[in-house]
Amino acid sequence: MILDSFPSPTLSFGEAESELRERLRDWIAANDPGEVPEDYEERLRSGVRWQAALNDAGFIGLSWPREYGGHGLGLAAEAVLAEQMATSGQPELINRIGVYMIGPTMMDMDTEEHRRRFLPGMLDASELWCQGFSEPDAGSDLAAVRTSGRVDGDDLVINGQKVWTSRAHIARWCAALVRTEPGSQRHTGLSMAIVDMGAPGITVRALPQILGEPHFNEVFFDDVRVPAEDLIGRPGDGWRVAMQMLSYERGLFVLERQIRLRQRLDELADRLDRQDASVEERVGRVRCELDLLQAQAYRTLAAQRDGTLRSGATSVDKLLLSHVYQELFALGADVLGPEVALGLNDWTHDLLESRAVSIYGGSTEIQHGIVARQLLGISEAR
Ligand SMILES: Cc1cc2nc3c(=O)[nH]c(=O)nc-3n(C[C@H](O)[C@H](O)[C@H](O)COP(=O)(O)OP(=O)(O)OC[C@H]3O[C@@H](n4cnc5c(N)ncnc54)[C@H](O)[C@@H]3O)c2cc1C
Repeated sequence: MILDSFPSPTLSFGEAESELRERLRDWIAANDPGEVPEDYEERLRSGVRWQAALNDAGFIGLSWPREYGGHGLGLAAEAVLAEQMATSGQPELINRIGVYMIGPTMMDMDTEEHRRRFLPGMLDASELWCQGFSEPDAGSDLAAVRTSGRVDGDDLVINGQKVWTSRAHIARWCAALVRTEPGSQRHTGLSMAIVDMGAPGITVRALPQILGEPHFNEVFFDDVRVPAEDLIGRPGDGWRVAMQMLSYERGLFVLERQIRLRQRLDELADRLDRQDASVEERVGRVRCELDLLQAQAYRTLAAQRDGTLRSGATSVDKLLLSHVYQELFALGADVLGPEVALGLNDWTHDLLESRAVSIYGGSTEIQHGIVARQLLGISEAR
């Protein structure tokens, strides 16, 4: 039964993609910004410059329609970009949330006026976006969102708190899920507000991670006024908009991560003690899991392209990614031992970072539930 739920066609690459791959490879080689800066804030600034340069060169928004600044190509072209960014060791796009999640959702569900206003800044990274979904008591249970948006004349007045908001401190805009119908419950009465992060009443407080990097934040809204018409989609349609956004979250992200993980595995394999059969076996297992993940990522992208992506199908991608990610860096810690324990190289950083993969974008336990219910047809335990 689960096989029926996998999209069967896969992404195909033709001459156009080969030509793009070559062009990108040459361009990246000629414009390589060099070492990724150590300092986190400097790394973010260099990420902005890098995306702007890629956009100037015509490589951002490859699958977006030309009328919105894109290049009218298919998802296979985006896959080539993801592949080249990863293989050349360049960081992921700084405005990934805008380009791959919020922008496409705006094109699907928003007004022409909003598209004209907001899409260009996503492409050239002049306006970064963050995703304001999670709250202290609404993470896995997102429908428990309590942050309110009260209509007052032409304004929406927002009060409440978001948490774990990645890069909120550098974002110009936030897509914030807020409750706009007083007294509404669960999935109803929600709207997706476009919030100017510079508006009075917003406080962003960094939550430093174990890595020491202030990647995510708490965001407090205290009588924050935004134009009431600045919603993605219609008032009360917030849940549908949120789900649409999340449906774009995985395909390309998983594909790119898979390539980066493969590079790290190769690096580790070069340093192995060939006498240890059990380690060799673990390396082989991780390699097989990466192959599986690659196949699944291509299938997901093909289903996105064809409009046949089944609800819940990308939970499989997320589960596979989380598992292999954590396996690889646990293996790295075992093989490299003291180097990792003493924090002497980037394997320590990645080991720590790998612990977050099974939480962000929906925890492993929640993905198991989705696979059981939506793909396997197993009903809730009584
Ligand atoms: C690095 C990182 C970046 C993030 N960036 C963003 C962002 O930009 N924007 C944003 O909105 N959010 C972001 N998040 C938040 C993320 O979406 C949530 O952490 C995630 O959805 C889990 O919610 P929670 O942290 O509230 O945990 P909870 O929902 O409180 O869950 C705690 C634990 O209980 C388990 N659990 C909960 N419910 C069930 C259940 N029904 N059955 C079985 N187990 C259950 C969970 O699996 C988890 O292990 C980010 C998180 C991380 C780690």
